Amino acid sequence: MIRYDTVTCALDLDAAGKSAGWVELTHSDNDWDNSAIRSPLGVIRGGDGPVALVTGGNHGDEYEGQIIVRRLFEMLEPADVPGALILMPALNMPAVLAARRVSPLDSGNMNRSFPGAEGAGPTRALAGFVTTHLIARAGLVIDLHSGGTNSDFIDCGYLTLTGDAGMNRRNRALAETFGLPWTVVTPPGNTGGDLDSAAHAAGCAMFSCELGGAGQVSRVSLDAGWQGVLRLLASEAVIAADTARRLGADGAGKTRFADLGAGSRHVTAMRHALAEPLVALGQDVAMGQPVAILRDLHDLDLPAQELTAPVAGVVLVARCRPLVRPGDHLFTIGPELDAKTVAEMAG
Ligand SMILES: [Zn+2]
Repeated sequence: MIRYDTVTCALDLDAAGKSAGWVELTHSDNDWDNSAIRSPLGVIRGGDGPVALVTGGNHGDEYEGQIIVRRLFEMLEPADVPGALILMPALNMPAVLAARRVSPLDSGNMNRSFPGAEGAGPTRALAGFVTTHLIARAGLVIDLHSGGTNSDFIDCGYLTLTGDAGMNRRNRALAETFGLPWTVVTPPGNTGGDLDSAAHAAGCAMFSCELGGAGQVSRVSLDAGWQGVLRLLASEAVIAADTARRLGADGAGKTRFADLGAGSRHVTAMRHALAEPLVALGQDVAMGQPVAILRDLHDLDLPAQELTAPVAGVVLVARCRPLVRPGDHLFTIGPELDAKTVAEMAG
């Protein structure tokens, strides 16, 4: 039995073969006293080769990753995996059960809670278990996100720059192998406490991505994510190439790069309003192009306000909810980056 703070796991993570169990979180409040919150965990181990950890449900209202990780457990057998695959489809199960981004137990955002800590609440306890017992066993980590209830994302991998040129080249190669239509480049330390930084600190190859969003399941995003996971696992020798092909993998498309760092801009509402979008996710927009119209909810006499693109680029993120408050970002627009610029940014 493994224990980390309030988290336990009876599954033998190092046993050969294919086995499933749970990560159990004990939490005492009005809803969960005398209960264990069980999050499924699977291990497929065929030998002593490379080990990968694949996770979904880091945020509870993101579904493509949860489906892909469960499907990997269904479709792979130990004979397909020369090393091991560790599969955790619902990282933050309390959030998954509530269909919310963060945990209802402590408002913990799992992807700001790494590397985790003891005595710091249930979300950090879960993160600590993942860091100490799952990431520590892996050489490759894949964390699958989507936009969540409030946002829709283009299907994109993250190339988070680290300040280490060698690691940047490695991460760029991972994103190109995964082969989503877009790869967004973000600055170092963009989201502290994420699973990515815990995996990098452990020396793992790490890839994370966004597959659609809006609290729904997109067929297109799901297929793109499935293909990417199979290609990356095959390229890192976690599964054989013919296994990946058997499960439907084909060649990667060429990913295009966009700046989600200093060159990108939000389009932000500064009044309470009903928002009418004038552009769609993935669309190319010119600087100054009208992208949304805001109308007052209560007063027909108040003139509508037109919001324009503060920068030329691609609509990378779109807000799903049309009712907006001051400070709500309707869109995030980032310029496309050519290969030479990406190479310069990566050092
Ligand atoms: Zn997420």
